[in-house]
Amino acid sequence: MHSQVVIIGSGPAGLTAALYAARANLEPLVVRGLQPGGLIATTSEVENYPGFVDGIGGYELAENIEKQAARFGAQYKDALITKVDASQRPFVLTTDSDETITADAVIISTGSSPRHLGVPGEEKLANRGVSYCATCDGFFFRGKKVVVVGGGNSALDEGLFLTRYVDELIFVHRRDSLRADPVLQDRAFSNPKVRFIWDSTVEEILGDEKVTGVRVVNLKTGATEDLAVDGVFPYIGHTPNSSLFKDIIELDENGYVLTDGRTHTNVPGIFAAGDVVDHIYRQAITAAGEGCQAAMEATWFLAEQEHAAKKKAEQVETPALGTW
Ligand code: NAP
Repeated sequence: MHSQVVIIGSGPAGLTAALYAARANLEPLVVRGLQPGGLIATTSEVENYPGFVDGIGGYELAENIEKQAARFGAQYKDALITKVDASQRPFVLTTDSDETITADAVIISTGSSPRHLGVPGEEKLANRGVSYCATCDGFFFRGKKVVVVGGGNSALDEGLFLTRYVDELIFVHRRDSLRADPVLQDRAFSNPKVRFIWDSTVEEILGDEKVTGVRVVNLKTGATEDLAVDGVFPYIGHTPNSSLFKDIIELDENGYVLTDGRTHTNVPGIFAAGDVVDHIYRQAITAAGEGCQAAMEATWFLAEQEHAAKKKAEQVETPALGTW
């Protein structure tokens, strides 16, 4: 299988890249990856994507961009890319079912994944009360008591979503003030189901078959307290999904893909956009904007390649005057 542009990842960055590349008649192929629609598809409500007066569901937003790009010829494939060979042209990509896809240009938009707490009990009780997706799992916690760890926008956004279902929600935050936007803070402080434990973090998740509680440690006093809860939702930031590219392109010390500010990586023909690059803004709208940039840069790159190839062919066909 060959495509002029292969887009790895299907969040707002990848899907917007697909839209622009499709409108440039490049018939891009989007390899959807593990999380079709990206992290935004697991977000209940997106209130700050321009153009949606009453907000829009994250899944619906991703689905809409996907359909919009498909209308102009974008193709989709449910697979994971497991290998990228950038030593030859076209690039050679291998999928998890050992299929080979060749591409003249590649756009990396693999996003990021929720960071784990790394405490005892977390791995063992994953999907047994430990969840990183309130939108997906909130329903299972009807009438229950849960802990959300973190004080950023994700923690508050997703925690507030959980209050639709749970009886009690405790935010455990390592400082005594929140990083989240004031509008979310106001909503959380005025929600009767919500309370905060400040200057603290979860040092162990308790339970055998399912979560029965957490051990919380106060970072100022060192005092620990066991809380009986049914669920734990860590929202302590994200790590970029870039390990596949570590030997191919330049990454920074935290694993974010390095670009020149115009989505070019250090390998000509490989572009990157969205949360796998951006550790500052990390918004759906900024990811979409970078996806647009990456597609435009890829379009210009391919046009230049085509022009250079044509010129080379002409030189071969018509030897320069004076060589006769
Ligand atoms: P974030 O803004 O980096 O917040 C992570 C939170 O987890 C912080 O409160 C941090 O504490 C805490 N934390 C980090 N490591 C920890 C650890 N080891 N133990 C305990 N707590 C820890 O990440 P995010 O909330 O996932 O948001 C990521 C980006 O997406 C941000 O730019 C955010 O604005 C954006 N976002 C926006 C919206 C929205 O606009 N509605 C929704 C979701 C996400 P400190 O505060 O002490 O550092």
